[in-house]
Amino acid sequence: LWQYIIESFSKSLNPASYKAWFGPAEPVQYIDQTLIVNVPTPLHRDYWTQKLNGQISDLIQEVSGEKITVLAKLPSDPNPLANSESVTTPKKVSVAENNNSSSFLKETQLNDRYTFDTFVVGKGNQLAHAAALAVAEEPGVFYNPLFFYGGVGLGKTHLMHAIGHQMLENRPDAKVKYVTSESFANDFISSIQTKRQEEFRREYRSVDLLLVDDIQFFADKVGTQEEFFHTFNALYDDKKQIVLSSDRLPNEIPKLQQRLVSRFKWGLSVDITPPDFETRIAILRNKAEAEHVSIPDDTLSYIAGQIDSNIRELEGALMRVEAFSSMTRTPISTSLAAEALKNLKVSGKSSKLTIPIIQDKVAKYYHVTIADLKGKKRVKSIVIPRQIAMYLSRELTDASLPKIGNEFGGKDHTTVIHAHEKIAEALHTDTTLQKEVNELRAELQD
Ligand code: ADP
Ligand code: MG
Repeated sequence: LWQYIIESFSKSLNPASYKAWFGPAEPVQYIDQTLIVNVPTPLHRDYWTQKLNGQISDLIQEVSGEKITVLAKLPSDPNPLANSESVTTPKKVSVAENNNSSSFLKETQLNDRYTFDTFVVGKGNQLAHAAALAVAEEPGVFYNPLFFYGGVGLGKTHLMHAIGHQMLENRPDAKVKYVTSESFANDFISSIQTKRQEEFRREYRSVDLLLVDDIQFFADKVGTQEEFFHTFNALYDDKKQIVLSSDRLPNEIPKLQQRLVSRFKWGLSVDITPPDFETRIAILRNKAEAEHVSIPDDTLSYIAGQIDSNIRELEGALMRVEAFSSMTRTPISTSLAAEALKNLKVSGKSSKLTIPIIQDKVAKYYHVTIADLKGKKRVKSIVIPRQIAMYLSRELTDASLPKIGNEFGGKDHTTVIHAHEKIAEALHTDTTLQKEVNELRAELQD
């Protein structure tokens, strides 16, 4: 658990904050969904209490569906769980590892765990893997840009880092840069503020390999897109390799400039789809071996059967089983795994939820008919529920945009994108809408 937490935060925080807040933190105990963490100063304790505790619970709830409570205390404060059965923390949890994992943020910002060696190839990612290898071996030659798209937790980031590692192995002097679209945007904006645009351009345009992750977050950022367009052109003209990822195809990213969309199509776009059962088992087995944990085959199958959509969640489940075993000092077995995972509600998309179910719920909720949702009437009292139903179909099912359009009386996929965007935007400000959509979402995911 701790390992997972520090890795996630080492990626999401900037290195300095990560070091400041997590460096000296020490997990003390995890019991009854409560994690106790020792921190060195009252200032740390306040910061943890006001910010990190909540962020950590949110993170864990997102990956595992479980609500945990985090309590930060000074070593001299009494341990509120001291009366409960005393347990040792899992063996992987140590401050030494904590320090290690902040140092994997090397110059190139590549995560050492994300290599081709640790990547399990299966049906859903075969093509992506092959393309990644090709690009790492012959950058700028075959597919430029290489564009990965697919749902969260399916290995896009992992493959991008693997390309970076491989290229550095082949050519240690190569300049490899991995950024998320957000850090590209932040770098760009701060370069303007500090009048260091020249430096920014030199930095980004002198690389041999540029990896930009999650470019769906370029939506809305007009200036950044403009700059990225020029970065792209400069690198492309120099035959430098560009690799991009997104949760969807370029033309499905709202507000992405057409000229970027068309450039992204110059290369190869490959999708990554969820792993099949065998691949999930292979991933679990690899992971367990890497951590020197022995797990019986039937238990691996059990876990692989519980989680079927997302590799991050699969890893989260394995981690829970390991933590549960080490906390209860019981060897890992299928019944232990069942116990450890019993509260686990697979978060996010549910395979059972279908578009007709969503339409039905939304229609009842807003007192309109399903025919209205599928129809073309432009009155507000129907348009909004229709857009909400499309939005929820997009958010809560795996259906493709054309499929959603079809289910809504044969509408074009751009209508679906538009509806999704409209609602997503309105949700930022409209509290009534927030409440309604949350209620619907909760009912549908029940
Ligand atoms: P994405 O970027 O698509 O959201 P990530 O690359 O972050 O997904 O993958 C989520 C987690 O799953 C990472 O810890 C990654 O190492 C692991 N993972 C994903 N695909 C594989 C795979 N094919 N083999 C082994 N681990 C994988
Ligand atoms: Mg990613």
